[in-house]
Amino acid sequence: DQHIKTDIEIAQEAPLKPIHEIAEQLGLSEEDWEPYGRYKAKVSAHTLKRLQDTPDGKVILVTSINPTPAGEGKSTVTVGLGQALNRLEKKTVIALREPSLGPSMGMKGGAAGGGYSQVVPMEDINLHFTGDIHAITTANNALSAMIDNHIHQGNDLDIDQRRIVWKRVLDMNDRALRNIVVGLGGPANGVPREDGFDITVASEIMAILCLSTDIDDLKQRLSKMVIAYNRNKEPITVNDLGVQGALALLLKDAIHPNLVQTIENTPAFVHGGPFANIAHGCNSVIATKLASKLGDYVVTEAGFGVDLGAEKFLDIKTRAGGIDPSAVVIVVTVRALKMHGGAAKDELKNEDIEALKRGMANAEKHIETIKSFGLPYVVAINHFVHDTEREIQYVQDWCQANGHPVSVAKVWAEGGAGGEDLARQVIDVVENGKKDFKYMYDLDAPIEEKIETIVKKVYGGSGVEFSAKALKQLKEFKENGWGNLPVCMAKTQYSLSDDPKKAGRPSGFTIHVRELKASIGAGFIVAITGTVMTMPGLPKKPAALNMNVNNDGYVSGLF
Ligand code: ADP
Repeated sequence: DQHIKTDIEIAQEAPLKPIHEIAEQLGLSEEDWEPYGRYKAKVSAHTLKRLQDTPDGKVILVTSINPTPAGEGKSTVTVGLGQALNRLEKKTVIALREPSLGPSMGMKGGAAGGGYSQVVPMEDINLHFTGDIHAITTANNALSAMIDNHIHQGNDLDIDQRRIVWKRVLDMNDRALRNIVVGLGGPANGVPREDGFDITVASEIMAILCLSTDIDDLKQRLSKMVIAYNRNKEPITVNDLGVQGALALLLKDAIHPNLVQTIENTPAFVHGGPFANIAHGCNSVIATKLASKLGDYVVTEAGFGVDLGAEKFLDIKTRAGGIDPSAVVIVVTVRALKMHGGAAKDELKNEDIEALKRGMANAEKHIETIKSFGLPYVVAINHFVHDTEREIQYVQDWCQANGHPVSVAKVWAEGGAGGEDLARQVIDVVENGKKDFKYMYDLDAPIEEKIETIVKKVYGGSGVEFSAKALKQLKEFKENGWGNLPVCMAKTQYSLSDDPKKAGRPSGFTIHVRELKASIGAGFIVAITGTVMTMPGLPKKPAALNMNVNNDGYVSGLF
């Protein structure tokens, strides 16, 4: 058996350029950036000001159909497409999210692309990187400490200890910390209350960092975060505590985008990684904007499928950042399509044209959604070694018969060379495609109407059912003046509906909104459907079991 190289083996063999060469390649001057070791740098957010009159490059969003638990290769295709565009002499910059340690130690093992389409140094990117996530953890927990101290020192703001919505965070999957009691041990040790930990990427501070346009905006947003309610049920904000300056200070370096390269030396920003369920699931506005000032093309991605990541990218991130998207790449895989067509999870490697045929309905819905956003698109078939020729041909034929531009991407196995056809088609739809980008909903529509629009138009559902709690919150949120914010849907990524078992293209379903969450600093109202985890747990056999480092510092087990 031929040994197939693991992601980390491929990454470790890639000849990297010193980061100053990548910065120079982008036309950055000495004052624009600061090295973080040999292969990483932070590019100052101020560079965006300096380049404000430079026209924006074309922003390409990579998204997918509803994924299998393993992921459909959005990051891999994002990196591969960026490499391919560069090979075709388009100056291209990639903009990705920073991986969180929780999923890396748990299921995913790493999130920096795969095969011959990766960002490097992958062991740094997957571990502590430039410390941004640490800084966010610290800012988040500093706020928790300030809240508990405020109560301990007399509670002038009349914080209702039963209505504190701000939680502590940690960048790890640690289910034992979901519900805790703090302040035990008598009067010298604070006031006892229930608290809990979320994973850092679920912190509103992560979402804020990713939507802010500069430090002033960051501070403004931090000051608006709702931390608790008082005994009259009025919201209490960071501004009431007066610590927005301190929190912004803790984030003064984290706000600057991190510059790295792909294994083919294409420049890539890897910056910010909010959860795609409780938050909007996209890398930072500053990094994407900066990439668009420095490149003719930007390739970026959003978490999960079109129904979650792309919808939030288009309705939340583009609004916050003044980003004008040019085209969308919709990643499909034969294995996920077969799963949507009813094939069993352990049979996805076997040829099954009938399941594939049925499963195309899922892709069809997502393509319709991108069309209704008014954006040109290309369907990218992310090629796996187990896919049969007949299966690939079937998907291609289906796309062609329905008038959808389609390309087989072999970027995992071949790097940029395997994505040149996709890149050519992307260039073609960007230059010649019809674009009439519009948001899915108006901000002035009532919150419930915005949710209903997404459910009907993006999920293909028939309506929304609000729980008694959600109905009460709708009323309170309106009274608090929060009605004009966009909505951030929290829903399972596995189905268009809120039931992960409904594969394919379900119809006639109702979406159940259990609860709303006010992320006023981030600037959206989260609508929680089903059970959303804000602190995941580790699986029975976590990826951590395979990880190691030897005496020479050689890392293994990150894949
Ligand atoms: P997503 O961004 O959609 O979550 P990733 O790009 O992170 O997906 O890929 C998930 C995993 O699948 C990674 O480990 C990656 O190496 C692997 N992968 C992606 N595409 C392929 C492919 N064509 N063949 C084999 N493995 C792949």
